[in-house]
Amino acid sequence: MSANFEYDLVVIGAGSGGVRLARMSAQKGARVAVIESRYLGGTCVNVGCVPKKLFVYGSRVGEDLEDAAGYGWNIPDDNIQFDWPTLVANKNSEIHRLNGIYKTMLENAGVTIIEGTARLEDAQTVVVGERRISAAHITVATGSWPVVPDIPGKEHMVTSNDMFYLPQLPREAVILGGGYIAVEFAGILAGLGVKTTLIYRGDLFLRGFDEDVREFTAGEIRKKGIDLRFNVNIDSVTPDGAHYKVALSDGSTLSTGLVMAATGRRALTDGLGLEALGVEMTKSGHIAVDSHFQTSVPSITALGDVIGTPQLTPVALAQGMVLSRRLFGDGEGEMDYSAIATAVFCHPNIGTVGPIESEARERYGRLRIYRSEFKPMRHTLSGRDERSMMKLIVDDASDKVVAAHMVGPDAGEILQGLSVAIKAGATKAVFDSTVGIHPTSAEEFVTMREPHSVG
Ligand code: FAD
Repeated sequence: MSANFEYDLVVIGAGSGGVRLARMSAQKGARVAVIESRYLGGTCVNVGCVPKKLFVYGSRVGEDLEDAAGYGWNIPDDNIQFDWPTLVANKNSEIHRLNGIYKTMLENAGVTIIEGTARLEDAQTVVVGERRISAAHITVATGSWPVVPDIPGKEHMVTSNDMFYLPQLPREAVILGGGYIAVEFAGILAGLGVKTTLIYRGDLFLRGFDEDVREFTAGEIRKKGIDLRFNVNIDSVTPDGAHYKVALSDGSTLSTGLVMAATGRRALTDGLGLEALGVEMTKSGHIAVDSHFQTSVPSITALGDVIGTPQLTPVALAQGMVLSRRLFGDGEGEMDYSAIATAVFCHPNIGTVGPIESEARERYGRLRIYRSEFKPMRHTLSGRDERSMMKLIVDDASDKVVAAHMVGPDAGEILQGLSVAIKAGATKAVFDSTVGIHPTSAEEFVTMREPHSVG
């Protein structure tokens, strides 16, 4: 810590990673300021994980009401109404509450919050409006921003940022993209009664997820009435009265009330002045850092979405803790990216930890695959045609369970617990000797005895 500077640490961006770094560093006695241009809590709290999950909950209620009949509940159809502005307003108040909690948390830790857009003047100075702030360490934690493809009519497309504030729900929507954000929003819209079409240029969506999971999910999502169209792209979007005409690369057209681009995110480094300072960037446009989050300029570090590591809130949080220990604590620790569990909150959910089958085969060689597919108990009486799938990947030589993948209700909740066992190196024998919780779907993970395939 140096008396030559106003602050020991200035963090640019009060998102998941920046807030965690700022708070932990201040708690260790460092003089810390955090600069935020938009909203405390960043993407996750304002236009990401949190509002999305609230919308997912909202989108599930319709099916729950339908399923109720099988359990003896008589809910007359003509009395059921959904009001989008109410959901958005309630979501907004919850986000507002969380913004306040972030403010209090930072202030209680002794962090100075500065509102405005930051720019780096030199390796030790950040400028916000008229104010120049000097710091021994500067961390860039500015996150990422949605990319809209360069096609005619792109100005008519909305992104995930806009989806959280739509004034009204359209009757039909077209979503372009095959990643988790596209798939989650397709589920949200369809669940709320919007006729939804998902357009993806590849032959199957959710690239990077286990092959079985991708196929199984496509089947389940189609049952919900979502029109999945693969191997096709959007050529143009044209206004057509109150609608849009979407021309597809296969020559067909769609008429829709909304076109969403969920086609990836880029590092948000606009106007920071990184190039002028000689901060190196990667080919993908992210800030290049070493395993200690160090950029090519000694006083400048970076973390979170802006460095191109897995774009997940818990990753940014963990990076913030590792970097804080490194700058102001005892730690030389590095971030451990192994066995990061993750979920897709489509309907039904996907939960996953560890490599996909093809990667595991490359890494370990001979595998034992355990796989189970079944109708969740809940749907025996609801009558809904929905199935779950679970899969364990075991390294045959060591008997270690190296991955678990699931499609089904609460997959994210179930996989979080399982990820601890997998990270701890549990063998299939340990799974087999674990007594299940009955009746649950999760017990299937400890009762799959016969491999589905070996090799
Ligand atoms: P951010 O949280 O984006 O924070 C960066 C902050 O920097 C922002 O507040 C921004 O306003 C500010 N900023 C930028 N430039 C400047 C500047 N020049 N001056 C001052 N401030 C600046 N992750 C999950 O783990 N689970 C999920 O379910 C999930 N769902 C998601 C759903 C959606 C729709 C999206 C878009 C993302 C989702 N994510 C999810 C990803 C998660 O939100 C991000 O990985 C996480 O927020 C990254 O944190 P960060 O600190 O790197 O950046």
